[in-house]
Amino acid sequence: MKELNSQLIVKEVVRRLQERQNGTPTIPIGVSARHCHLKEKDLEILFGKGYRLTKKSDLLQPGQFAANEVVTIAGPRGSIERVRVLGPLRRVTQVEVSQTDAIKLGLNPPIRESGNLQGSSWVTIVGPKGSIYLEEGLIIAQAHIHMPSEQACQLDVKDGEYVKVEIDHPIRPLSFEKVRIRISDNYVLEMHIDTDEANAGFIKSGLKGKLIKTGRFFNETGDGKAGPNVNGILGTTFVADFHEKLLTKTIIDGWKKSIITIKPNTIITPLARDAAKERGISIVMNEIGRGEAGDKGIRNDRNARVGYLD
Ligand SMILES: [Zn+2]
Repeated sequence: MKELNSQLIVKEVVRRLQERQNGTPTIPIGVSARHCHLKEKDLEILFGKGYRLTKKSDLLQPGQFAANEVVTIAGPRGSIERVRVLGPLRRVTQVEVSQTDAIKLGLNPPIRESGNLQGSSWVTIVGPKGSIYLEEGLIIAQAHIHMPSEQACQLDVKDGEYVKVEIDHPIRPLSFEKVRIRISDNYVLEMHIDTDEANAGFIKSGLKGKLIKTGRFFNETGDGKAGPNVNGILGTTFVADFHEKLLTKTIIDGWKKSIITIKPNTIITPLARDAAKERGISIVMNEIGRGEAGDKGIRNDRNARVGYLD
């Protein structure tokens, strides 16, 4: 017992000395762009039976990689093409976007820790071989720091603890107040933020932030909820393909799904386009790399949700 105590004291002294020597501990930042994790069944629906992901590049976290494969994601107000699939495959399909992306899609995903998907937003995923309506799985990732247990010990933080991270930018200094610590010996030290958070502070991957302990733990409630159904047509309905050459208002008026996928050569009349917008139906071109609504930028700034976290 006595020995244990003196060990703890030595550890604490060493930690404080290190801190004095190095100043506040710094954490390298990784900016996480929108991406998609797939389970095997969904990969096969999107890319074909027996399909395997192919590696484009390794990520910093061991074993994780960016795949060459990309998908289109869609909501009632728009779609986003070329969303990177990350490997390896997971048990559950999950899509992570920024709030800017969410507004473009017309969806209202909550801020969540990866894997905590209950009650998160729906989204449609379109691949070269098929599409899926994901009933829940769209989230905005909560800012977090990956670290192995040894580092956690040195920094004196616990799994699930929230810390503050300060970015010392000369023009736009910024601090993140609720950054969750995630500990596993499979991790290397890295803080993950999304592109909105990075852009707000002119932050590029590799920049370092200062970790400041707050001693706070939150339970993960009080976050955003999945968005309401637009005009009552969503929720139980999803994607359907349209195979004809001409998409008219009459077809849109009778359309019972929230997404309509079209062929690259389908012509959409202006009235049909307006009707789709009005009813919250998203028109998605069913071919990778050539979207319909995705190239229009953010058209719905007026839908920006202020006070989203209340
Ligand atoms: Zn992460």
